[in-house]
Amino acid sequence: RASAQRSEDVIQRYMEVVAELPEEDCIICMDQLSNPSGYELPSTEDGGQSIQPEAVGKFIKCGHTLHMLCMLAMYNNGTKDGSLQCPSCKTIYGEKTGTQPKGKMEIYSVAQSLPGHPDCGTIQIIYSIPPGIQGPEHPTPGQPYTCRGFPRFCFLPDNDKGRKVLELLKVAWMRRLIFTVGTSSTTGEHDTVVWNGIHHKTEMMSNLSGHGYPDPNYLDNVLSELASQGVTEDCLKP
Ligand code: NAD
Ligand code: ZN
Ligand code: ZN
Repeated sequence: RASAQRSEDVIQRYMEVVAELPEEDCIICMDQLSNPSGYELPSTEDGGQSIQPEAVGKFIKCGHTLHMLCMLAMYNNGTKDGSLQCPSCKTIYGEKTGTQPKGKMEIYSVAQSLPGHPDCGTIQIIYSIPPGIQGPEHPTPGQPYTCRGFPRFCFLPDNDKGRKVLELLKVAWMRRLIFTVGTSSTTGEHDTVVWNGIHHKTEMMSNLSGHGYPDPNYLDNVLSELASQGVTEDCLKP
């Protein structure tokens, strides 16, 4: 499993050590890259220490540079899912996963058209999440979480773009990215299951709430929200 990998290995998979130090500051600690990272490497069981405090790393795709130990500290503070996100440009390396609790995602077909999409039927997604106990990845481990407004009903136009969004939402669901446990910005309730930045349309026949149709930009907006979580068309290629 991804989470069983050593943190150092994850850093070294996606960053290479640079020999010539750029005259820049580290975006994490704000100190010059020519000074060593202030973070200390936690001692490992095998005693192996492959990242030095002076090491400056460069991300393999976006090319941004920072202290490797600063990146390691950031990784160790997160969900440690085997993925990294460049703190400069947000490029994701590996497969980002979230903290969505257990539940189910069901898909149905509805004959009725959505406002703004008169030429096709509708895809209905139903998310059901029952209450449970928070895990170590949640804000208050061991305490219960509540689930308000479930099952939640969501709608997509049943056309090519809507079906593509559906396939990407299935990937996001598998990666536990659709919901999280936190504080609801609508109700202020803590330790409850909330949407996690990938907007859904929960209203079918009007857009009074801003969460309905018509909304000509919705499919493009949700595609970019999915992309910012690392869920893109590439994920659908075999
Ligand atoms: P939240 O209030 O913390 O907001 C998180 C994100 O969800 C924000 O981006 C917000 O714009 C979006 N959002 C807020 N209300 C939404 C809605 N009705 N439909 C789609 N997106 C919405 O998130 P939350 O606490 O998960 O949800 C907000 C509230 O909406 C909750 O009180 C929930 O119970 C309620 N809700 C009810 C139903 C239902 O079918 N009864 C469905 C969805 C949400
Ligand atoms: Zn640093
Ligand atoms: Zn970058």
